[in-house]
Amino acid sequence: MTRRTALAAGLALLLLLATGCANEKPVPTRSPLPYPSIPQVTATAAPTPTPPAATPATPTRKPAARGTVGPLNTQRLTGTRAVALTFDDGPHPEWTPGVLDQLRKAGVQATFCVVGVKVRKYPSLVRRIAREGHTLCNHSWQHDLKLGKRKAAQIRDDLERTNREIQRAVPGAKVPYYRQPGGKWTSSVVAVSKSLGMKPLHWDVDPADWDDTSSAEISRRIAKQARPGSIVLLHDGGGDRSRTLGACPQVISSLKRKYGLTRLR
Ligand SMILES: [Zn+2]
Repeated sequence: MTRRTALAAGLALLLLLATGCANEKPVPTRSPLPYPSIPQVTATAAPTPTPPAATPATPTRKPAARGTVGPLNTQRLTGTRAVALTFDDGPHPEWTPGVLDQLRKAGVQATFCVVGVKVRKYPSLVRRIAREGHTLCNHSWQHDLKLGKRKAAQIRDDLERTNREIQRAVPGAKVPYYRQPGGKWTSSVVAVSKSLGMKPLHWDVDPADWDDTSSAEISRRIAKQARPGSIVLLHDGGGDRSRTLGACPQVISSLKRKYGLTRLR
């Protein structure tokens, strides 16, 4: 009897343990269920948000990003219907005279964002830019892409040194604009340029003429991106600018006809 009771008790215990395990088992068997079902949910949910992010958001974001002002409230548009051409990284003895010839031929003026060391090297080109009524813009002493991240005092020294060099070439020259190399604006460089009486000048249209782009492609990109008041970024220095020069006749005539061309004041 005692053996039987012991056996019965043992069996009962085993049963309890077994049912206990059986009761626990559904938990682990239930828990793997949500896991496969979660990836299924995300798998079905993921493709839904991906297409709107990839396809329709791109064309709607582009015009939104092209507002009326540049980064950190820099100037992006002329403020009138007329479009402005800006030429950066010069002056250069090979390309700048060619650009100036074409502007003169078309009877239009532009803005030249000059680099201090090149002003020092080719002061007569800066004199010609000023003499022909174009606007001068400070483009830093030696095209320092990281200038905006330096100390305010260093930024100030750099911009003042560049302005002094411009004014040494052209006594009394006005330099109403500053353009940060690479468009790498920081609030510090914006503040310093303003404190020196220069408006921070960004751009609205960038045909990437510095890239290995044909003249026809430069012209096509500008025609496609331009809108009333656009400021167009071009280069008359910093490398082989023959393609920019080649694009100039078409760019100048079509923009002049469509919007009018203005220098920045
Ligand atoms: Zn530049």
